[in-house]
Amino acid sequence: MARIGLVAHDDKKDELCAWAVQHKRKLSEHDLWATGTTGGRVMAATGLPVTLLKSGPLGGDQQLGAMICEGRLDVLIFFIDPLSAQPHDVDVKALTRLATLYDVLLANNKPTADAVLAAVQ
Ligand code: PGA
Repeated sequence: MARIGLVAHDDKKDELCAWAVQHKRKLSEHDLWATGTTGGRVMAATGLPVTLLKSGPLGGDQQLGAMICEGRLDVLIFFIDPLSAQPHDVDVKALTRLATLYDVLLANNKPTADAVLAAVQ
C-alpha cells in the first residue's frame, strides 16, 4: 500500500476530483492524504477515506513536506495552477522541492498522474 498525497489549486480541483473518480478503484487500495479543501472535495466525489491536513495556504503543503522528509509519503499528486498566483507560493515551491529532493513520485498534471498511479503497486 502506498501513501499518496493529493493537492490541487482552486482552478484544478475539478480536474483532480475527476481524476480521482476515474481511478477510484486503484486509489481505494492506498492510503490517501490531502490538504484540507482538496481532500474534502475528493472524499465527496469518490466516497473514499482521505486523511485531511490543514488547508494548503494555512500550512497543509508544509505538513505534506514534513511527511516527505520523514519518509511518510510515497507519491505526491499535485495539480498546480500555472495561470494563477498563489499567496502561499513559497510553500508550493518548498513542497515540490522536497518531493524532488527525496525522490518521491511526483505528478503535476493528469497524464503524469495516470502514469504514476499505474506504476504504484
Ligand atoms: P487546499 O490547499 O486543498 O486546502 O485548497 C491546496 C493548496 O495548497 O492550494
